[in-house]
Amino acid sequence: MNKSIVIAIDGPSASGKSTNAKLVAKALEFVYVDTGAMYRTLAWYCRQKAVDIQDPKAVATACKRWKTTLQCIDGQARLTVDGYYPEKEIRTKETSADVAHVAAVPKVRDWMKHKQRECLAFGSLVMEGRDIGSNVFPETEFKFYIDASLDERSKRRAAEGVHENLAERDQRDSQRAAAPLMIPLGAFFVNTSGQTPAQSSGLIIEEMRRRLPQNRSAPPACTT
Ligand code: C5P
Repeated sequence: MNKSIVIAIDGPSASGKSTNAKLVAKALEFVYVDTGAMYRTLAWYCRQKAVDIQDPKAVATACKRWKTTLQCIDGQARLTVDGYYPEKEIRTKETSADVAHVAAVPKVRDWMKHKQRECLAFGSLVMEGRDIGSNVFPETEFKFYIDASLDERSKRRAAEGVHENLAERDQRDSQRAAAPLMIPLGAFFVNTSGQTPAQSSGLIIEEMRRRLPQNRSAPPACTT
């Protein structure tokens, strides 16, 4: 049996990680994992339960107690809470403003890392986030870092109808003590400024095809 492979894709907000990671996962038939969605789900949950996101102890307690399930549906990993996946709610301006606070709590990061590593049970992965190559799967050989200018990233978010202070969130993500956003050592750098998703994901796919053993076939991505 083939050993599962992890492709780690890190980068700042709105750099194009999700779009590129999804295209890479589809092309290689790997399972796609959006770790930002997991942190966003906790931020949403805290708001629902009136947990003060400025209080790291309260956030850590909520994270210890919440009832979650990790599933793989149509080739994508998904964390549900109390059986519910808050797909729309985690993309609101409020959740975006809260998420970097909950993500800075060390106990939350430990919990997330453990959950994210559990995704290996689903097969080979394309996992995107801020600390995947540096902290969650430091052992993987396949590390990518995606970036674009702040101006272009802000325009992309605005085009999605979301007006948020990306610079502030980037600063929180880069300056926190626990597993900050960084370019992992040896990462392949992709600048998506002025590139179409097909062009930038094409660079990653080409690089992966060059590096993967010729006779390696991807294990089937899960369907349920
Ligand atoms: O990628 P996305 O913008 O959805 O991530 C939301 C937030 O989750 C980030 O701004 C960051 O605070 C946190 N995050 C993280 N580590 C990850 C993924 C996301 O700290 N691996």
